[in-house]
Amino acid sequence: MRCTSTALGPSWDNALTLMPADCVVIENATAILPDGLLPQARLVLRAGRIAEMSRAGKRAPRDAKVIDARGGWVSPGFVDVHVHGGGGADFMDGTPEAVRAVCATHARHGTTTIFPTTTTGSPQEVHQMIAACKIVRDEQAISGGARIAGVHLYGPFFAPDKVGCHPAGGRRDPTTAEFSRYFGTGLVRIATCAAELPGAGAFFRKAHREGCFITCGHSNATWTEMDRAYKAGMRHVDHFWCAMSSVASIRARCGTPMQGSMEQYVLMNDGMSTEVIADGQHLSPELLQFAHRLLGPRRLLLVTDASRAVDMAPGRYKFGHAVTGTDFDHDGKVGRAPHGGLASSSVGMDHMVRTMHAATRAPIWDIVRMASLTPAERTGIAHEAGSLSVGKRADVLVLSAKLKVTQVLVGGVVQAL
Ligand SMILES: [Zn+2]
Ligand SMILES: [Zn+2]
Repeated sequence: MRCTSTALGPSWDNALTLMPADCVVIENATAILPDGLLPQARLVLRAGRIAEMSRAGKRAPRDAKVIDARGGWVSPGFVDVHVHGGGGADFMDGTPEAVRAVCATHARHGTTTIFPTTTTGSPQEVHQMIAACKIVRDEQAISGGARIAGVHLYGPFFAPDKVGCHPAGGRRDPTTAEFSRYFGTGLVRIATCAAELPGAGAFFRKAHREGCFITCGHSNATWTEMDRAYKAGMRHVDHFWCAMSSVASIRARCGTPMQGSMEQYVLMNDGMSTEVIADGQHLSPELLQFAHRLLGPRRLLLVTDASRAVDMAPGRYKFGHAVTGTDFDHDGKVGRAPHGGLASSSVGMDHMVRTMHAATRAPIWDIVRMASLTPAERTGIAHEAGSLSVGKRADVLVLSAKLKVTQVLVGGVVQAL
């Protein structure tokens, strides 16, 4: 092996000269693999890819840039399939500047692959968001921040009684005329719709033909409606226990006999996955334990579902679009709607990983898998991202013994923290 450069990629601010170093070696770490650990690991990253992974022993190539992990962890970069904003910006602001700000913010928290997520809003706002994401995605080889793998079309097709903190006026039922235009951009890779809405079947079938990862969320669907959606390609439920049906909510909607809900459908059907917001504010430790125990790390994802309040001071912010979004208060830990309900998380994926680890005491490789390989597998990008595997993109984190992010590399480029 021959390495020819010691230059590390400079920071986000210096976008035009941002290039992966020819060769980076990460040493003195325990590597977190999908199903176990590799102690005393040594990773060689070359030309933006993972080139070698082995036990320590060999000397680093003379000209390589060496990163000493100081006995901490080396982890695959995180993959976030559900995230709205950060650093004061929301993807729905619909400008490339906002998209860059969110991607840079989440990279600092270990997210290297991101699926910008729409809220409810007007068709024009959704289009502007997708267009801004496309501009940033196409420039990312020379810019920085978490890489955009596709847009998560999340709002506006929510059930009227499960809109949550989203702008209620921006909710509507799906129509072929509207959603065909979103899919026509080629950027939508994850598609959410409440399964009980008129038009949901057509939406799911279209998303399936487009090869999207299909999810049901902000929904009061019955077991029967979920089963119909499953047959049309739906495979996932957004933020488990939040804005979804329960046996009690279905009883209120449909009477007796009591029926299964989205909760039972996910737990019973091995083809389904779901996600938790493990910020310690949305769900108690026993619910995180429950989800991990019953679903396991291959069917449970960690997401941030973060708002623009990530890395921002406590105060009042807009959820969704900067002008037409809804007000919420960031109390330093989580977003709260004026009426007291939760309004998305205010933290990055590193926080979710630490909280899930503390709550479940599960092996660290299980926890990291839920934030990396499992979302990559579910969204069809595992050939490129999600684990420390030779040949994959060099999306690599160095974490301290206490799982704090100390280095982030996206495509072999060191990110500014
Ligand atoms: Zn939601
Ligand atoms: Zn959300």
